[in-house]
Amino acid sequence: EGPLMNGMNVVGDLFGEGKMFLPQVVKSARVMKKAVAYLQPYIEAEKSGKVLKHAGKVLMATVKGDVHDIGKNIVGVVLGCNNYEVIDLGVMVPCEKILEEAKKHNVDMIGLSGLITPSLDEMVYVAKEMQRLKFKVPLLIGGATTSRVHTAVKIDPNYEGSIVHVSDASRAVPVVEKLLNDNTKVKAHADQKAEYEKMRAAHAAAQKEEKYLSLAEARANKVKVDWNSNEIRKPIKLGITVIEDQPIADLIPYIDWTPFFMTWRLRGAYPKIFDDKEVGVEAKKLFNDAQALLEEIVKNKSLKAKAVFGLFPANAKGDDIELYAVEDKVHEWTCDKHGKHTKTLQVGNEAKIQATLHMLRSQRQMEEESSPNPSLSDFIAPKESGKTDYMGAFCVTTGIGLDELSKRYEKDQDDYNLIMVKSLADRLAEAFAEYLHLKVRKEYWGYVPTEALSQEDLVREKYQGIRPAPGYAACPDHLEKKTLFNLLDINKNIGVSLTHSMAMVPPSSVSGWYFAHPESKYFNVGKIGRDQLEDYAKRKDISLNEMEKWLSANLF
Ligand code: SAH
Repeated sequence: EGPLMNGMNVVGDLFGEGKMFLPQVVKSARVMKKAVAYLQPYIEAEKSGKVLKHAGKVLMATVKGDVHDIGKNIVGVVLGCNNYEVIDLGVMVPCEKILEEAKKHNVDMIGLSGLITPSLDEMVYVAKEMQRLKFKVPLLIGGATTSRVHTAVKIDPNYEGSIVHVSDASRAVPVVEKLLNDNTKVKAHADQKAEYEKMRAAHAAAQKEEKYLSLAEARANKVKVDWNSNEIRKPIKLGITVIEDQPIADLIPYIDWTPFFMTWRLRGAYPKIFDDKEVGVEAKKLFNDAQALLEEIVKNKSLKAKAVFGLFPANAKGDDIELYAVEDKVHEWTCDKHGKHTKTLQVGNEAKIQATLHMLRSQRQMEEESSPNPSLSDFIAPKESGKTDYMGAFCVTTGIGLDELSKRYEKDQDDYNLIMVKSLADRLAEAFAEYLHLKVRKEYWGYVPTEALSQEDLVREKYQGIRPAPGYAACPDHLEKKTLFNLLDINKNIGVSLTHSMAMVPPSSVSGWYFAHPESKYFNVGKIGRDQLEDYAKRKDISLNEMEKWLSANLF
């Protein structure tokens, strides 16, 4: 075991020095792990009560309500290569469990991971609990929506122990080392606290500089669309469509590969990355491995892809959007003691509302006088225009079967293929979203039947229309996913469900809205005022407290 662990340390060091790339590290770790597993019984037999000395024990978990764990798995492998013992609790781990296990195993450090914004709040909660329960160990924060600023401003003040945001797996090791080493940890702790204190001050100062409008002023500065310009297209196929079994092979050409290389910490745009002097060779090897695994997935049908989408008549009503039932005549059943009655509602003013979507509006005062304060509701014809507009919703998943596949690799101690299959499933989900959007534009809705964009332009989203995802910049309220999931009966139709933090299960699922108007654009709602928070909570019929929790990332 000694020489093997030394071998791993060499790998860890080379990675730290930038002389080895992540895919090589994960592959080497696989070899070592397998060798150790094979040799273990012999080592045990020979070892005379001598226990292997680890550099430290790190407990890692994806927080409650969140399911994403690629980054966490990568950090785990990298720490393992540096002689740390990693206890990985997996995904959706409640705070109580994290802290209980941390105590039980007497760990030296806790690492939390999360992908979606509600997880940020869960991390704040864990930090508060660590303070309350008198923990002293450092807390590492990582994952897609986490940031140094958020860690400094929202998490750090809650815990007297060290808290460090780790943006990248390769940075984790030196950070962990400094915080655990007896010679450096006092200074590292003081430095960290001082740095975050400075960031908080800078952040507060920067916020004072920004000017915000009242909600009424922002509404008066909405995006002005000319609804008489005949841009509204009635969808060819209104209503809900389910795609039961989408061949994965059709999705492969739509994969955007650049984020795949980012996941594997190889910097560069696809396909130019293959010519890169530094990472080109490694990128090509990784890509070839990805192709081979994709082929296997297609051949064995080990991942299944399903989708559901709906296209509905719609009108904006203030900053809300009403989606109407599809039939021209809607029959509403009512029951009383005389039996069943039907009432016929007309589409138009009296049409049956299928769902009401609540949108937020940017309140930031723009530098340019002419810049509007957008809300997604601006891109749908308002009721008072007298026009019936249309809007869509969708959910795709390529994660059916992923759990089984992952378990197989886990059992096989094969982190390389584990991380590979998860990163590919994510890519396929995004590819499916792209592919379905194309089909909707050209066929189902048919507002640009002759669109013929190159693959490159698809990746750049050069087409007419957008597909904003609830929880992201233009519609940051994750709770709206509930409306989306009810509207399309997503759980029943394709088996995707929501955690209580509104993460989609299985992972490798994507959902969003479709807007077709040529003026619809992505934007960032950013910070909102108390006035909008109160107005929004009222529109959604949710307590102010709960609304604050869901929108915490958008509040001052
Ligand atoms: N080709 C990329 C696509 C994902 S990122 C990939 O394969 O990873 C782009 C997607 O993020 C958009 O299609 C949209 O669904 C979402 N998005 C981007 N900007 C957004 C915004 N401002 N508000 C809401 N969703 C947004």
